[in-house]
Amino acid sequence: MRGGPRDCSPPGPRADSTARVREEAAAELCQAEPAVGGGVIESWDLSVGVDGPGTRFVVFTCGCPLRCLYCHNPETWRMRDGRRVTVDEVMTEVGRYRRFISVAGGGVTVSGGEPLLQPRFTGELLRRCHDSGLHTALDTSGFLGDRASDALLADTDLVLLDIKSSDPQGYRRLTGGSLEPTLRFARRLADLGRPVWVRFVLVPGHTDAEENVENLARFVASLGNVERVDVLPFHRMAAGKYARLGLAYPLADVRPPDQDLLDRVHAQFAAYGVTSV
Ligand code: SF4
Repeated sequence: MRGGPRDCSPPGPRADSTARVREEAAAELCQAEPAVGGGVIESWDLSVGVDGPGTRFVVFTCGCPLRCLYCHNPETWRMRDGRRVTVDEVMTEVGRYRRFISVAGGGVTVSGGEPLLQPRFTGELLRRCHDSGLHTALDTSGFLGDRASDALLADTDLVLLDIKSSDPQGYRRLTGGSLEPTLRFARRLADLGRPVWVRFVLVPGHTDAEENVENLARFVASLGNVERVDVLPFHRMAAGKYARLGLAYPLADVRPPDQDLLDRVHAQFAAYGVTSV
């Protein structure tokens, strides 16, 4: 694995977070990964069109060192809330859907939470799927990209890389963490020639500034391995989950982007020759 010893320093202060949420995020960085062959997941599910090409078998791992204001999977934040599974168990479940997802041009996506919080489990799962001929995708913020070995990335046919903002201060306000590890990971993926779909959540008042989109488009265009950018309009459908978990929903007053804003953002990517959908 690339990188040095684990960095267990907290993601840093965010003025609008509760102390409890910040402490939990920092603690996730130091969670011990289960023994070889096992991992902690929240669930698995089938999806179409949003987690890679075709119909996907998506494994949602548990534990994430970030706390994005718009996160719609807060139930995956803490590793201790998940359930332990072996790679064999997951592969058995994948096998039940194998024919269906293969015919539909799909594959397996490891998502989260943050899958690279459990690099052994994630790597083994990707390897087993890849070796069996299934298309594999890794959905990650890139914040822990240093924990992904070159072997793990070689077993990953597509990286869905969430670049949440191109502005370091804005990134920290939005996620509680630092932008640089994600940019470093993006450059490494480019050096390795791994295919990438960048995901960018468009949140009015947080990520929609022209300069922010401009800088992101310029960065993406410089990489050479990004096949497309998924511009994901912010929505408030996760508000109910926050209520059920007893968490304050930070973006309750933010409205989804309108069509004019979406058109402007797509035009900004197009101006750099970047395909956005
Ligand atoms: S990185 Fe993903 S799972 Fe983690 S807080 Fe952000 S949106 Fe949620």
